[in-house]
Amino acid sequence: MNGRRRFGLRGKLLLLLLGFGVVPLTAAILLVYRSSRAAITEQAENALRDLAAQQAVHLDTELRRQRLLLRTIVGQLTVADSAGASAAQLAAALRQALPEDGVFDGLRLVSAGGEILVDVALRDVEPHWPSEAPAADWATHRVELHREGDQVLAYVVGLGQGENASAAWLEGHVRAADFPRLFSMPPHLMAGAELGVLDEAGNPIFVAHEHGLNQVVAGSVGRLPDTAIVVRGGTQRAPFMVAFAPAEDMDWYVAAVLPLDVALAPVSRIRNLALGGTAILVALLVVTSAMAARTVTTPLAQLADAVQEFGRSESFAPVRQRSQDEVGSLVRSFNRMAQDLVRSREEIERLHEAELERTHQLATVGELASGVAHEIRNPLTGVMGAIELALKRIPQDDPSRPLLNEAEMQLRRIEATTTQLLRYARPPELREVVVDANLLVDRTIRVIEPQARTGRVALVAEPTAEPVLVRVDPEQVVQVLVNLGLNALQAMTDGGRLTLRVVRRDGSVEVAVIDTGLGVPPDVRRDIFRPFFTTKHQGTGLGLSISQQLIERHGGALRLEETPGGGATFVVVLPLQEEGESS
Ligand code: ADP
Repeated sequence: MNGRRRFGLRGKLLLLLLGFGVVPLTAAILLVYRSSRAAITEQAENALRDLAAQQAVHLDTELRRQRLLLRTIVGQLTVADSAGASAAQLAAALRQALPEDGVFDGLRLVSAGGEILVDVALRDVEPHWPSEAPAADWATHRVELHREGDQVLAYVVGLGQGENASAAWLEGHVRAADFPRLFSMPPHLMAGAELGVLDEAGNPIFVAHEHGLNQVVAGSVGRLPDTAIVVRGGTQRAPFMVAFAPAEDMDWYVAAVLPLDVALAPVSRIRNLALGGTAILVALLVVTSAMAARTVTTPLAQLADAVQEFGRSESFAPVRQRSQDEVGSLVRSFNRMAQDLVRSREEIERLHEAELERTHQLATVGELASGVAHEIRNPLTGVMGAIELALKRIPQDDPSRPLLNEAEMQLRRIEATTTQLLRYARPPELREVVVDANLLVDRTIRVIEPQARTGRVALVAEPTAEPVLVRVDPEQVVQVLVNLGLNALQAMTDGGRLTLRVVRRDGSVEVAVIDTGLGVPPDVRRDIFRPFFTTKHQGTGLGLSISQQLIERHGGALRLEETPGGGATFVVVLPLQEEGESS
């Protein structure tokens, strides 16, 4: 069994099935994955931009509210201060003025000259006052927010109203930790998103989750635009998308950062699902492909083995048919074909044996005939000469004359038979010439015409329109045709029609001798070419066997064919001599 051949077909089938299954599947998954990824990324960008914009609005509103609050307080303090209130009274007034859950840790009232008038810590922690007063243009910016050092602090500074406008300001101190409360920015408004506040140049003022935003801002932000935008940043291994939205009333921006892997988490779920699904499908495909390949290749391999075995041993064991599909029908056809072949082989062997037997018989008959003929011929010639002499000498009315005539006739028959026998044993030399087969037919007709007329048989010649050349000994072929013609005439006891038809075939010429006589009964068809086989009272049974022998010596064949409508058809096949062919 050939392992490589098996693998070849199975491997190819497997590859084909996998190729048609896995490639389109993978392409489809890839396509779905890519489009989902693009859609989800776009969605995340939009959501992030909306978040940044909303937070910018919120920040703006919140700062306005705090400013309003400080202005109110400043208004009250200005009244209290002008009324000559003490520091303790001012502090109490400040404490009272602020709401309990406000964002300020402490308030400080500073005179226009920078002298601290009053300090209030509003909570348990000590306020972290800035080392120096903010240098703000109070005339235009009535409220400022500041940052100090790397610790982020925010100050809301209210400027006195009216006459005291440049006399004092109020500092509100907000701790960094309280910034989210101030700006209402819970760390995870959007799952995974981080929020921060940047100044116009992109420097972080406040970052809710400093880590990510600082990284992104450092690398990706230049001067920021007036509308909300989304940019990509971060490192290749940890990429982010960042949305920036300007707060309306100031130069600040709210930034919202979302790590890409968080944004694409749903996609990665899809991808994992798709990968898992693909793996399962591929496994299923491999198994089913292997099974499919097996169902095709196993019977094919068995078939191939059976063919080899059949060729080698000439014996045949039918291959088992496992299925009703195309492979099954192939197996069935092979079994049928092999059985036919076995039968044909047997038939050929049988024919071969018969042929051998015939050859053997012919050889024996030939030797015998030539021996006997020689022995008979000489005394026969002597006896015939004696009878001839006797007939010449006795008077015409001698009563023994009819007896002698009969004896002479019988002796002539014996002589004819011995001549035939001798010809059979030693066929005459071939004197081949190139001749038109139609001419041979003409000559035959001329020879048998008298007998045909006597037997009331119509002779019909059907020559070809063009000459058909054969390279033969014309005497011998005419002798064969005459012999066939005479046999035919003898078979038409009540008259009839004898046709001699010339047909040109591919590479050969056929001369058919067709009669309307008794025909050859099926049970003797195989015997008529055997020497000495005859159904006639006075037949020798040598005519057909000698004819066959002569034609075969020309490289042709003589055969009996079916004759529709009764009668017999003998066909002489001769090799065609192509025109221009060397003779
Ligand atoms: P013979 O003519 O001496 O019998 P052949 O060899 O010529 O010997 O013929 C053998 C036998 O074939 C004949 O006896 C006859 O039975 C049969 N045969 C030959 N030609 C015809 C024919 N045209 N029609 C019917 N039978 C024929």
